[in-house]
Amino acid sequence: MKIGELYRSGDFKGEKHVPVIVSPASVTAGAPLDVTVAVGTEIPHPNTTEHFIAWIDLYFKPQGEAFAYHVGHSDFRAHGESTRGANEGPVHVHPKATFSIEVSKPGTLIAVSMCNIHGLWESSLDLELS
Ligand code: FE
Repeated sequence: MKIGELYRSGDFKGEKHVPVIVSPASVTAGAPLDVTVAVGTEIPHPNTTEHFIAWIDLYFKPQGEAFAYHVGHSDFRAHGESTRGANEGPVHVHPKATFSIEVSKPGTLIAVSMCNIHGLWESSLDLELS
């Protein structure tokens, strides 16, 4: 068994767990780039005290290189817990994070998310330099 076998994927329009990467596909080398990663943009994922996205990681794998670089991590430890009881609060948290990066080479953004009940999910987006 390898951990890579545990990462699941799919089309985010039909599978709510797949992380959605929002970024321009063509970017300027060395310029600040906002990359947003969210889970449940098309089909909402629950974010309750029992069922939630625990974290999102973002990697950049430059074209032609052997390794990926870890460029972002967001923990979702707050879920609007209420003193009234589980899921009784008036506020809901969405698993979404924006990372500011810059790249000097084309490559691929890779996002990984972890659902506390449904495990590890991944997606990727190719970046070209303009
Ligand atoms: Fe889930």
